[in-house]
Amino acid sequence: MLEVSGLSHTFLSGTEQSQVLKNINFTVNKGEIVALLGSSGSGKSTLLNLMAGLMKPTEGSILIDGQPIERMSENKLAEFRRHHIGFIFQSYELISHLTVRENVELPLVFQSVKPSERRERAMSLLTQVGLAEKTELFPSQLSGGQQQRVSIARSLITRPPVVFADEPTGNLDTKTEKEIIDLLLELNRTLQLTFIIVTHESEVAARTQRVIQLKDGRLAEDSDYLHGENETAAALADEAPPALA
Ligand code: ADP
Ligand code: MG
Repeated sequence: MLEVSGLSHTFLSGTEQSQVLKNINFTVNKGEIVALLGSSGSGKSTLLNLMAGLMKPTEGSILIDGQPIERMSENKLAEFRRHHIGFIFQSYELISHLTVRENVELPLVFQSVKPSERRERAMSLLTQVGLAEKTELFPSQLSGGQQQRVSIARSLITRPPVVFADEPTGNLDTKTEKEIIDLLLELNRTLQLTFIIVTHESEVAARTQRVIQLKDGRLAEDSDYLHGENETAAALADEAPPALA
């Protein structure tokens, strides 16, 4: 489903060059849910943005469904992203003057799906994320956790095989964080979706099948557990300093 090989990335700021990712290699199978863990500045967002085709790497390759996305032209990549990649942001990124349902339908507008089908698919997903009663409200009328549910529904509306989430619970309290992680785990199970979730919280990582940890731009750990509670992540949770961020 996803294959990252020899991936390195260097940012140029002024005359300074900084290599933030160094020779990253891993493979994710269809239906896996992976936590990408690491302290602030370790390169998590950069890696996620590269995998989601939002930036091009300085070195290495990223295959999604067997296709090398770093070699695609801008147009081809944009089209590929619309069909194959879902993205969930920490800050939801909803459009304030559109209703909940219109926000969820938006990616289908770009795919020219007809209004009746857009509506049907949006309503079905909004029911699945527990917002059947809120479809005609505006984002500002929802709690943070509910807004993140809208953003999750929007990321799934194009039925992408892989969904990337950058600290999806970063702005939420502990109880809401747990509910959102429950939802992602349930969607992973019921829809066989592949999820890559960036987090700096080891409690989130402890609930996924697999943890990939970055340290100073290198892959420091890749624990590949098949089911349930993740012991490596649990051990990390014990060792981690209270303010990893
Ligand atoms: P994380 O998400 O793990 O906190 P990031 O991937 O955001 O880490 O950042 C990794 C490193 O890359 C940091 O040192 C950050 O300052 C640097 N960085 C991120 N984006 C840019 C950019 N656009 N230009 C220059 N440096 C950047
Ligand atoms: Mg980040």
